Amino acid sequence: MEIIIASRNLGKIREIKEELSSTGALFRTYEDFSDWEEVDEDAETLLENAVKKARALCDKYGLPAISDDTGLFVDALCGAPGVECARFAGPEQNPDKNIELLLEKLKGVPLKKRKAKFVCVLVLALPGGDMKVARGECEGYILSERKGSGGFGYDPVFRPEGFEKTFAELTTEEKNKISHRGKALKEMKRIIAEICGSSR
Ligand code: IMP
Repeated sequence: MEIIIASRNLGKIREIKEELSSTGALFRTYEDFSDWEEVDEDAETLLENAVKKARALCDKYGLPAISDDTGLFVDALCGAPGVECARFAGPEQNPDKNIELLLEKLKGVPLKKRKAKFVCVLVLALPGGDMKVARGECEGYILSERKGSGGFGYDPVFRPEGFEKTFAELTTEEKNKISHRGKALKEMKRIIAEICGSSR
């Protein structure tokens, strides 16, 4: 089975490939298509955004396409930055500026009140119109300074519940074991195995 990964985010691509490689699927990315077009993530929910991205690429290239839309919900900020967390500090979607703004908004808030959660929605769009959805969540805390150099996005300031390290201090394999995306990917792995099994 060939699957297009509907993202230009190298961090997401790495995590998706790492977890789904055992399905035997062959992954295609934006680098394989000269006429790749960005899909606007302008919907109000993670699910709508994920459906939009996966469906657009599946229909364009006639192959199954998997998309990921992720939000970061911080209790002390009434759920912000939420679904819009890629553009938290502006339309240029700069991860450093996003973290800076987040730390600024949480200045003076003690660690125990810095609870947050990542929510990831994965959609696999199939030729013919069918769609499969998987979801994962990971709770944790927003630290007051960056720690670690791995991962991407908000990883250097997110410390998962029960751990002493941030996501940016974990390997991809370690992050996938506990993260929002890792959990959704495990569910998606089961779905892909089912699809492959039923098409034999
Ligand atoms: P989107 O899903 O591409 O809209 O990403 C939303 C925002 O969350 C972007 O700024 C990403 O960099 C960030 N993000 C998505 N997934 C993760 C993650 O696993 N760790 C840290 N930041 C993430």
